[in-house]
Parts: sequence; C-alpha cells; structure tokens
Amino acid sequence: NEPQRVQKRIAQAGITSRRKAEQLIIDGQVAVNGKTLTKLGRKVTDQDIISVNGQIINSEKFEYYLLNKPAGYVSSNKSYPNQPSVIELIDSQSRLFSVGRLDQDTTGVLLLTNDGALTQKLTHPKHRIKRIYEALVKGVPTESELADLTKPMRFDNEIFFPQSGKIIEQTSQTQSLLEVTVAEGKNHEIKKILQHIGHPVIKLHRKMFAGISLGRLKAGEYRALTQKEIEKLK
Ligand code: URA
Repeated sequence: NEPQRVQKRIAQAGITSRRKAEQLIIDGQVAVNGKTLTKLGRKVTDQDIISVNGQIINSEKFEYYLLNKPAGYVSSNKSYPNQPSVIELIDSQSRLFSVGRLDQDTTGVLLLTNDGALTQKLTHPKHRIKRIYEALVKGVPTESELADLTKPMRFDNEIFFPQSGKIIEQTSQTQSLLEVTVAEGKNHEIKKILQHIGHPVIKLHRKMFAGISLGRLKAGEYRALTQKEIEKLK
C-alpha cells in the first residue's frame, strides 16, 4: 500500500487517463477525504477516499489475471470439499471472481479480476465477445453438420448463436478435434450445441477469450494481464 499520486489512482479505477485526471484535479473536480484539491502532487493510500465530481471511486486496486484453468476446479467464488475453486489458484489478497464460467471439467483461458464493470462488459451477450474452444468429440462431423455451426440453433427452449466450426484433426476412426467459435457465454453452450448436431463432447478446452490466448501457460499456471491487454479489453 505505497502512497500514489491521485491521478494514478483515478486512472487505475478506469475513470479516465492519467493526463485527463490531472486536468480534473486542476479544474477542482477531485476531492480527497472530502477536501477539494486545487493543485497536483497529492499522494494517497488505500485509506484515502477519492471522489471525482462528488462520486467516490473504488478504493480497491484492480487486478486482472489470465489463468489456464485445470480440470477439476469450479469457476465459483465458493469452494466445496470435493470441488476446489479456481480462485484458490491465484495468490492475491483481493476478492477476485472469474469472468464468466467454465465447467469443472473444462480447461483453458479464464480471466479473473475484481473489476466488476469490466466483468459485466465481457460477459454481457450484447457485446458479442468471441470465445474459441477446442472440443474433442465423438464421431466426425459432416460438411452439413459443420454448416449448422454457423447458424442460430433453437432447441430445449433456448437459442444459440454459434459462429463457426471446423475440424482440426480426425484423431481416430471414432473421434475428432473441432474448433468452435461462439460469441456469448451460455451455460454448457458448447456441450449442448455439439450434442445437438450429434457429436457429444468428450473433452473441452477454451483457447481464446476476447482475443486473449494462453501462450506458454500450462494448466494451473497464471499471469497478470499487461496494461496493454487490459486497455484492449476495456
Ligand atoms: N461450453 C460448455 O459446454 N462448457 C464450458 O465450460 C464452456 C462452454
């Protein structure tokens, strides 16, 4: 909890850039502990309450992580005896939550943060954030079944909007590895869609979410997102 300049904290809270925050301070729109600032230079700690135009900003520092989720962990803030949570894999003092969910047996790209606004944005269907999955399935889909993965599908009182699907590899006579792209995050979406076209999922891995992929992270490993990546997500 090092003292930091006020403009840095305003920028970290996602309100505006550091430079624009300096202008807000000069313009008398920023207060610390209820006292309006009149010049630059003030440093604050997490105990200080900063407001911009009367609105208090989040005093918590935002953290953003990319995890290669291992199988066997749930994407939930709570953990149960036989279901450890992904949150336990990250060494952080903050109250993190996952950006959307992966099933317990699904592996791959999972973002974790304490930034609620960004989570809302990335998980809301209207933003059509792309998710790319690798699915090992039973059988080998035909051209026409793959074409079904480019059109809306309605079944079991739900509507799905898969974007595309292709075969990466026919791994045996009876199994194939597919790449499937969707742009929302419905519960069990990929498993339901692939079951529907006649190719139940055996194994599921997410290789990309919102343009972020794993690089060299192994299952269970994580890293903080870079400032550049965070800005791109926002
Ligand atoms: N679709 C699924 O069926 N499961 C996941 O974990 C993610 C997407």
